[in-house]
Amino acid sequence: MIKFLDLHKINLQFEQELKVAANRVIDSGWYVMGKELETFEQNYAEFCGTKFSLGVANGLDALRLIFKAYIELGIINRKDEVIVPANTYIASVLAITDNDLIPVFVDPNINTYNLDSSRIEEAITPKTKAILTVHLYGQNSINDQMLAICKKYDLKLVEDSAQSHGAIWKEKVMGSIGDAAGHSFYPGKNLGALGDAGAVTTNDETLSKTIEALRNYGSLNKYENIFKGLNSRLDEIQAAFLNVKLKYIQKDILERRRVANYYLQNIKNSAIIMPSVIEEKGHVWHLFVIRIKKRDELQTYLKNNGIQTLIHYPIPPNKQNAYKEYAHLSFPITERIHDEVLSLPLSPVMNVNEIEEVTEILNLFT
Ligand SMILES: *Cc1c(COP(=O)(O)O)cnc(C)c1O
Repeated sequence: MIKFLDLHKINLQFEQELKVAANRVIDSGWYVMGKELETFEQNYAEFCGTKFSLGVANGLDALRLIFKAYIELGIINRKDEVIVPANTYIASVLAITDNDLIPVFVDPNINTYNLDSSRIEEAITPKTKAILTVHLYGQNSINDQMLAICKKYDLKLVEDSAQSHGAIWKEKVMGSIGDAAGHSFYPGKNLGALGDAGAVTTNDETLSKTIEALRNYGSLNKYENIFKGLNSRLDEIQAAFLNVKLKYIQKDILERRRVANYYLQNIKNSAIIMPSVIEEKGHVWHLFVIRIKKRDELQTYLKNNGIQTLIHYPIPPNKQNAYKEYAHLSFPITERIHDEVLSLPLSPVMNVNEIEEVTEILNLFT
């Protein structure tokens, strides 16, 4: 069977180094907020090209903490509105509503699956304080029009960079373009820990200091609490694993592009809509998402041929039980995306035979 994502095989590449890293942490006797985290934060800030990087417990917390910090700083107030793509993963929306902010869903662009800048302005009200743009599937979602809108209406631009580590727009790495960005290192992400982990990147020193306190009970100095904070820290052992894996991320991106480019050039089936790539460097292929009317049929056919696929995502956030208050809203493009998308196997460790097999079987589907 061709697996959607073989995490064991991915981490096996770094087995020796990961074991050395784990032993180092075990032997150190220091497990939370220590040298490994400090090193990772420096490495990751350098990778993104930002002044600050703060390790946190996961990607959802990274985004939650950004909004929480803006509220603490009085830049955003409870019940203010945040624009978010209607087709994002639910975590983007949870980060907004958990802070008692209002998500304003905007239908995405049907070709890129990312926020459609031409639809943002009509969603802006006097309550709008931020845009949470999501680099979905690994592709940059920012453009000049979006930046101009943020400037014109004085909106904070927050990047959900959970799927886009290392993607580039105009020489800048995702996570360094907006005012702040949340990153996830969930095991299945392009830069994955061996458990949960996340980070915030920003060039804003005040925001960075606020989040540094908020992730640690609202405290910068032990037993002195300046905010009502959370416990959302990145463990030493995960930071040590991430220090290993970060060294190989550029190589991984090239491997992912190798698979994606093969698919793009060789999948030839008129029923299938292939992903649109705006700029080669702007996409790091967290997911290779095709669209097809007979999606469920294709998924069953692939499964019967030993190919595992997934759907990202089957239900839009506003149609989830968790968000009944937004169920009446209708987003035609989002709904179409959720009915038609299918994610093909793609990882840096896929071999040529597997890629060819997926392609051949897809080309035979009628
Ligand atoms: C994975 C993901 C998150 C949440 O990250 P976790 O580390 O799983 O909490 C947020 N946004 C998007 C787009 C994601 O894919």
